[in-house]
Amino acid sequence: MDTIRLDGRLLANQIQARLKEEIRYLSHPPHLAVVYIGDNPASTLYITMKTKAAESVGIRTTIQKLPEHASTEEIVRFIQILNADPSIDGILVQLPLPKHIDTNAVIESILPSKDADGLTSKNQGGLMTGHPTILPCTPLGCLRLIQQVRTDLTGLNAVVVGRSRLVGRPMAQLLLNENCTVAQAHSKTQNLAEICSRADILVSATGVQGLIKRPFIKEGAIVIDVGISKTEDGRIAGDVDASSVMGQAGWLTPVPGGVGPMTVAMLMANMVNIVKHEF
Ligand code: NDP
Repeated sequence: MDTIRLDGRLLANQIQARLKEEIRYLSHPPHLAVVYIGDNPASTLYITMKTKAAESVGIRTTIQKLPEHASTEEIVRFIQILNADPSIDGILVQLPLPKHIDTNAVIESILPSKDADGLTSKNQGGLMTGHPTILPCTPLGCLRLIQQVRTDLTGLNAVVVGRSRLVGRPMAQLLLNENCTVAQAHSKTQNLAEICSRADILVSATGVQGLIKRPFIKEGAIVIDVGISKTEDGRIAGDVDASSVMGQAGWLTPVPGGVGPMTVAMLMANMVNIVKHEF
């Protein structure tokens, strides 16, 4: 069988074109504050991608930069100011934070109604309990890609590799909410290949380059590669060894050009929903 490329860039462009139209009719253009601590080249790149996309759809962005040595308390105090600022609709803290920072404390300091990335306990709890909530951008982007292939996921076996707060856990919950039978794998999982090979939908979010190879793939599976890592020669690569799974997977997201653009598009969608109070 031929493996079909699930093009995240194409879908993200379509979504952003719809959002641009919608934003024209909002009470005001959404305003996103991006909190950026330190000077991580990958974070700089991601922030540039997000602000460019925001500008192109009519979302205002302000980058709030704090030095690498800022303490957890200083960042929290800064976020509290943004929480209280009525001109700001959404707040995004660019992750990862420097090692000395308590990331959970920083995330929890964001007002849940301004939590553009859907990462606070209140929003993640809403996802678990089925309440309308702001959903995390990367897993939501993955779900939208999967739904390009099949709208009804009821009864499908899904395996999520990775269990982070940012990607793995909310991804598994989203698939469970879509009536999939979900297994969650992680670094301590035994027989990973065998578990993955039962998946109709396989989402890998580990950052371990080439972890997912042909024996991990059920014939015709939908394979979503969230991972981002750098090869020795400086190229961006995913968790999936793409050449080895070709002809076995039914669908595969490329890296780059798969989940990344969809993460950005879902951030834009969250900002529109925040202004519309639709969550
Ligand atoms: P984390 O490092 O927080 O989590 C990685 C997860 O992978 C952990 O749960 C870990 O298990 C698991 N893991 C690590 N090694 C293995 C292994 N050998 N076998 C099975 N599981 C393993 O990363 P994130 O969740 O934040 O991100 C995951 C990847 O996705 C990264 O490459 C990141 O860059 C990328 N990413 C991409 C985005 C995009 O827009 N495309 C957005 C966000 C992230 P354990 O819990 O046991 O340690």
